[in-house]
Amino acid sequence: MLLGAHMSISGGVYNAVIAAKKATCDAIQIFTKQSNQWRAKELTDEEIDRFFKEQKETGVKVACAHDSYLINLGSPEDALYKKSMDSFKIELERCGTLKIQHLVMHPGSHVGSGEEAGLSRIAEAINRIFEQLPDNRTTVCLETTAGQGTNLGYRFEQLAQIIEMVEDKSRMSVCLDTCHIFAAGYPLRDPKEYRATIREFDRIIGLKRLKVIHFNDSKKPFGSKKDRHEHVGDGELGLEPFRNILNDRRLNRVPKILETPKSEDLHEDIENLKILRSLIVKKEAGS
Ligand SMILES: [Zn+2]
Ligand SMILES: [Zn+2]
Repeated sequence: MLLGAHMSISGGVYNAVIAAKKATCDAIQIFTKQSNQWRAKELTDEEIDRFFKEQKETGVKVACAHDSYLINLGSPEDALYKKSMDSFKIELERCGTLKIQHLVMHPGSHVGSGEEAGLSRIAEAINRIFEQLPDNRTTVCLETTAGQGTNLGYRFEQLAQIIEMVEDKSRMSVCLDTCHIFAAGYPLRDPKEYRATIREFDRIIGLKRLKVIHFNDSKKPFGSKKDRHEHVGDGELGLEPFRNILNDRRLNRVPKILETPKSEDLHEDIENLKILRSLIVKKEAGS
């Protein structure tokens, strides 16, 4: 079972791995550059080498990267669309250099152009970027969203539709965020409802595409379409959804990553991971 959190790369990408060890993470998510800026500082050879060395020494697995929040591959406006594509391409290249398997991304917003137009625009951008990077092996990992504003990806059907329009489907994967899908109206608390939600995900997208799970509780109620993360157990989800997921054998191998606020000493992550690990029901040998 790989459990961990999003970690800061401030001072160098390898710092995320060092901090992860301190926070008792098995796996982490990182930004490969500052998430609120378009510019990306070149990765130095020294930084890259140390990134690999720290992973080897700590045993921490870098499960995925997350793209910048400025990128909108669904934008109807050509200048921002082009800028987003260029920037996303650079992020995929950085993931390639750092040997990160999945680049989690919020699919995009249609900003008034309509959902269908937005979804086509996103798929077209991904097709063009894949064409420009034929040898890159990092998957584009579409994240389920809460559906705030004109954000796309709040229905499993929308993610399936994007994948359907992408030519090289072997380079596509999906990230399920517990806070987002709950806010989007997929129930997770009651075991029966949880199973129905996962069944629907499997039917529409396919569980084999699920490569990352974001473990966030929600400050906002079910179906609110608001994306506000809360510490596991402290929000509208409570602990049951996490217990359901952690004991679902089909999802054993999918890394589970916290994206909740933390202080410098990382005690929130340490505490949350302790709580999550206590929810795992130990199976007797042979069962
Ligand atoms: Zn997330
Ligand atoms: Zn979120």
